[in-house]
Amino acid sequence: MSYLYETHLHTREASSCALASGAEYIRSYLDRGFTGIIVTDHFYNGNSPLSGNLPWKDWVALFCRGYEHTRQAGERQGLDVFFGWEETFDGDDYLVYGLDKTWLLEHPEVRFWNRREQFEQAGSFGGCVVQAHPFRDRYYIQEIHLSTGCVDAVEAANAGNDRNFDALAMRYAQKLGLPVTAGSDIHNTSQAAQGALFGVYLDKKMESIQDYVQAIKTKAITRLHIPPGRCDYQGNEDRDIAIPVDIRDAQDNSTGLSLKQFYGRG
Ligand SMILES: [Zn+2]
Ligand SMILES: [Zn+2]
Repeated sequence: MSYLYETHLHTREASSCALASGAEYIRSYLDRGFTGIIVTDHFYNGNSPLSGNLPWKDWVALFCRGYEHTRQAGERQGLDVFFGWEETFDGDDYLVYGLDKTWLLEHPEVRFWNRREQFEQAGSFGGCVVQAHPFRDRYYIQEIHLSTGCVDAVEAANAGNDRNFDALAMRYAQKLGLPVTAGSDIHNTSQAAQGALFGVYLDKKMESIQDYVQAIKTKAITRLHIPPGRCDYQGNEDRDIAIPVDIRDAQDNSTGLSLKQFYGRG
């Protein structure tokens, strides 16, 4: 028996770029055989609609509404819903799982973590960190930052990516020996309706988000739910030579690669 989970999902309540509330996605996930979804709205330094000037407890309350609304709808319709978030640094994004609203209220310093602190602190409180879509190339991204030593896993397949970005992410994760995940990075219902939903298979049903953290840390994700050939690189096979893997001692454990250098972009 295997269980399918969405690992990367945005709601209108707490992500500026999302068009749908979590409840609007639920039918599509049920129709496609998912057991559950993890809501990962953009966190404090990401694309958040919430003012950074709000008192922390108010910020956390508003941030968690996207998840809470989704969970309520999931309970009514029969889809398990879990909590996480996606934090942003210099265009590089990280999915953080295993810490909850109560924890957030007690730890306002989470807003100011660097990448190393994020990894060490989340880990020390029973969470984990996954670098999201590490090779994405978008207008708002100046450089690719690879956090080789400060992540538990790499999101190798992201439905919002070009497939070559995913192919590179898969190679990169394999070079580092890190577990891989897949997620839809869903922001609107048309993506759900088209069936462009990615996810991960576990052979044990998740009872809490801790089960996902453990699945990552023990490399228990059995399979990715992605289209066939999704992570096969199309084109110049020299690309993987450019992936550095010897930068574990960088100051807060990321390195910047210029996109011009990396993708030959002018
Ligand atoms: Zn977004
Ligand atoms: Zn995202």
